[in-house]
Amino acid sequence: MAVTVLLVVLLLGASVVGPARAFSVVTAESPADDPPATVVSLTFDDGNDDQFGAARTLERYGFRGTFFVSSGLIAEEPGPRDAAPTKMTLAQLRGLQADGHEIGGHTVTHADLAEIDAEEAQRQVCNDRTKLVDLGLDASNFAYPYGEASLDLERIVEGCGYNSARGLGDIRSPNVPRVTNTCEKCPVAETTPPTDPYRTKAPNQVENTWTLAELQNAVTGAETTGGWLQLTFHHIDDSGSSLSVPPSVFEAFVAWLAERATLGTVVRTVAQVIGGPERPTVDYPPKPRSGNLVRNPGLETLSHTSSLPACWQGVGWGENQPSFTVVDDARTGEAAGRLDLTDYTEGDAKLLPTLDLGTCSPPVEPGRAYDLGAWYRSTGKTQFEIYTRDADGAWTHWASSPPYLPADDWVHATFTTPRIPEGVDGLSFGLNLQESGTLITDDYSQEVDITWDEFVTRTVAATWAQVRRTLAAPADNLVSLHHFGTLQNLASPW
Ligand SMILES: [Zn+2]
Repeated sequence: MAVTVLLVVLLLGASVVGPARAFSVVTAESPADDPPATVVSLTFDDGNDDQFGAARTLERYGFRGTFFVSSGLIAEEPGPRDAAPTKMTLAQLRGLQADGHEIGGHTVTHADLAEIDAEEAQRQVCNDRTKLVDLGLDASNFAYPYGEASLDLERIVEGCGYNSARGLGDIRSPNVPRVTNTCEKCPVAETTPPTDPYRTKAPNQVENTWTLAELQNAVTGAETTGGWLQLTFHHIDDSGSSLSVPPSVFEAFVAWLAERATLGTVVRTVAQVIGGPERPTVDYPPKPRSGNLVRNPGLETLSHTSSLPACWQGVGWGENQPSFTVVDDARTGEAAGRLDLTDYTEGDAKLLPTLDLGTCSPPVEPGRAYDLGAWYRSTGKTQFEIYTRDADGAWTHWASSPPYLPADDWVHATFTTPRIPEGVDGLSFGLNLQESGTLITDDYSQEVDITWDEFVTRTVAATWAQVRRTLAAPADNLVSLHHFGTLQNLASPW
């Protein structure tokens, strides 16, 4: 009987935790008073390039970390060291993985998943994983940006093929300045295996208000019960930013942690703790649309999460004060978008279809041109500013239309874009203001600009259909003609 139970435990342990599990199964040989095993995972969010140095520190002590990165925010090349911290390059991420570190997913653009709908969340989570895997990175575990998790999101993350997802703030955190939720009554460590792998419990992210002693206390606290402690770092640098830990403090902590091995405390990556198979990736491309490609083009539906129309956002740059409101002074329907720009020195502001992965922003095909339209009234000149999204989910300014004159009454501004370049799959556009004043817009449109060949093909097809209808028409008429003829036949041999 005891042997059977032991076997079941071993089998369960093996299947749930996988071959790389980091904690020991209690066997008949283990003394009952063994100290509980504690596993620490050192996780790093957002792919900040200062984390590359932290990885080297870990390696000096034989440790490996887990780096949760956003596929749309991988740097093209190393950034300037004296500038604000930038992101790691693909070469650096591949190097980390080759050296035994883990690369996990963190959404395409570091999206706040609580703010977007399920379809967009699927794109953010699944397409990120697909991209990372295509780039040769493992991406078997995920971390929620801002720790924003929900039951619906857990199912989405699972559906994307991840084996786990890390939350934040469900494990007791040190009482440090600026942090209000320390989760005082929470456990000091996550269980191994976690009861809910798609929302694994972790303390708050490490802030610069945590001291070396507080990092150590988190570990010694976890050691009192045993289990899994995931620490979340953002920056290991001397910038003093709110999420920075100085390299000297980090190294002192890692050196101290290495000495805890004698007490049974070990450091493992998330993948080593969670285990599980490598599951297939799932892709969610933007859905095809036809006709007017703009969502909520009349601005009639209000957003649940902002005071703006659903699927629209206010965007601007430079020195000025923009204010976006919805007004009932509409061209059609009951809503129009109003932009008031004050204190103008430079830059612009405009209302745009939300710069997302495809739920709001219109899809486009490379090689096609698009007819853009919007109705406006304005105290100043206005022009279309056009943005495009690349395959990484990144948005950049692409083109501007010529300016349109100020107008007291509604004017229809129209512009045909250049052909969409290769590698672009989304577009967003809006009318802007580049001076202090007021601009009211309504009834936006974006339709594919058909080519001459398509025009000819469609015209021929339409004409041919008309011919066929005409040819088919006598068939119907024949019935009546036949009747008529039959009647006539009474009087004539025809
Ligand atoms: Zn993050």
